[in-house]
Formats: sequence, C-alpha cells, structure tokens
Amino acid sequence: MPIVLIVLGMAGSGKTTFVQRLVSQMSMEGKRTYNVNLDPAVLEVKFPASIDIRDSVKYKNIMKSYKLGPNGAILTCLNIFAAQFDQVVKLIEAKKDDIDYVIIDTPGQIEAFSQSASGQIITDSLACTFPCINLYIADTVRCENPNTFMSNMFYALSILYKSKIPLLICFNKIDVLDHSFALEWMKDFEQFDQNLSKVDTYLSSLSRSLSLVLEEFYKNIEACGVSAGTGKGFDKLELKFEKCKQEYYDVFYLEIQKKLK
Ligand code: GDP
Ligand code: MG
Repeated sequence: MPIVLIVLGMAGSGKTTFVQRLVSQMSMEGKRTYNVNLDPAVLEVKFPASIDIRDSVKYKNIMKSYKLGPNGAILTCLNIFAAQFDQVVKLIEAKKDDIDYVIIDTPGQIEAFSQSASGQIITDSLACTFPCINLYIADTVRCENPNTFMSNMFYALSILYKSKIPLLICFNKIDVLDHSFALEWMKDFEQFDQNLSKVDTYLSSLSRSLSLVLEEFYKNIEACGVSAGTGKGFDKLELKFEKCKQEYYDVFYLEIQKKLK
C-alpha cells in the first residue's frame, strides 16, 4: 500500500521544488513514486507527472468561458477535477502493489486547496483508502519573522484539524537559514514570545493567550528541516513518513472509517 503525500504551503514556500527533489531522491533510492500535479495554472511541470490536472482542465479556457479571474479559475479547475477524482483513486488502487509513494503537488496559493471543498473531497477520498500525510512546507527564511512564523503555524494547525490526517511541517530553504530557531520556538514558548515582543506588542499579547492551543498542537505534530534546492535533510524524511503513517493508523484511521459509515 503506497503512502500518499499531499504537499501544501504558502505561495513561494517551495512546494513544487520540494516535489521535484523528493521525486528524484526517491527514484535514486529505487523507490517507485506516482506523481500528481494539481496546479492547473503552472506553465511547466518540472517533475514526471503520472497525472496532470492540466490534461483534463484547461486553466486559460476556464478563465475565458466562465469570465473568471486567476483565483476563481484555479478553484473552478479544482472543482471540475475533484468531481472525477474517484477515477484517480481507482487508478492508484490498481497500481497499489507497484507504488511506494503517491506525491501530490498543489496550487501555488495555499487556500485554493486547503480551504476549498474540492481540496477536502480529494483529501478525504485518498485518506479513506490510503495512509495519507499532509506535508506543510514553510519558508524558513520568512519564518524568521515571528509574525510569519505564527501565521504559518496557525495555517498548519487549521489544516490539521480540517483534514484530519497526520501533518509533517517541513521547514524549507535551510541552505539559506538553519531551522533550529523554529524548532526552538515550537519547544519553548517563552523564547518565541520574547522574539515576538521585539517586533509587535499587539500580536504578542494575542499570541500569549493562544499559547496553550499552540502548545498542544506542537506536542502532536512532527517537524523537520529540508532544502529542496540542495537536497539537505531529505535523507531524514522517510523515517518521518513512516512515523506519520503509523500515526495515521493509530490515531486517524478509526475516525475516517466512522465518517464513511
Ligand atoms: P511553490 O509556489 O510553493 O510551488 O514554490 P516553488 O517551488 O515554485 O519555489 C519558489 C521559489 O523558491 C523558487 O524561486 C525556488 O527556486 C525557491 N526555492 C525553493 N526551494 C528552495 C530551497 O530549498 N532553497 C532556496 N534557496 N530556494 C528555494
Ligand atoms: Mg508550485
């Protein structure tokens, strides 16, 4: 049974580069991957995609024929694709003994997938058949700003509670900035709070009152540092995937089965 990896994150965090790196890394290790591109607006898919949303819905045509702007067109493409997603699940099921990982790239803007009905439909239909993990890609360089760090954590938190599958936070771009400060902030709220107070007093008091929520969240999720650019940290990913897969069966599986009934 393959592990399904759904790659999410803010625009420019490095999702597509991450997928590209993971695909080539896995292939070097002799792992078999099934790669899916769910970004209808991308000009060129830089990894070998077994399934490409652009083959079934044409972003430019959708924009024209429904008179939509870029974001509306992306959502509409996803909606159309989600309506036929059971076919994708069947395709993967038919190949399940020949694949180790299904790797899914999502649209640039995070909310297109993580806050949409179609994103939920796609996640649910995968998670009820396969062990499924959300990989939340965060830009470590941008996270150096405590406000950006916090909004990333809240985004990740909302994804965890909405999708109800295991979440792995991948601090990306560690070739530019090491992610140890971010792990520290997740472990030690006082330290984060001190840094936040330096930049923003209003948010600092807000975040203090939310600290309990965050503490509980941090306790329950996995995090690691990677560089999709150089490949640093990718050797440690597989162990994390296995851990999250176990979590899928131990914690989330029963809930998912209940939902099906
Ligand atoms: P997406 O919008 O999340 O799919 O982000 P992309 O994969 O398109 O990457 C956005 C930008 O970040 C591109 O210019 C990438 O070259 C750059 N980038 C991605 N990963 C890394 C990394 O690990 N290190 C560095 N330095 N840049 C990266
Ligand atoms: Mg992308």
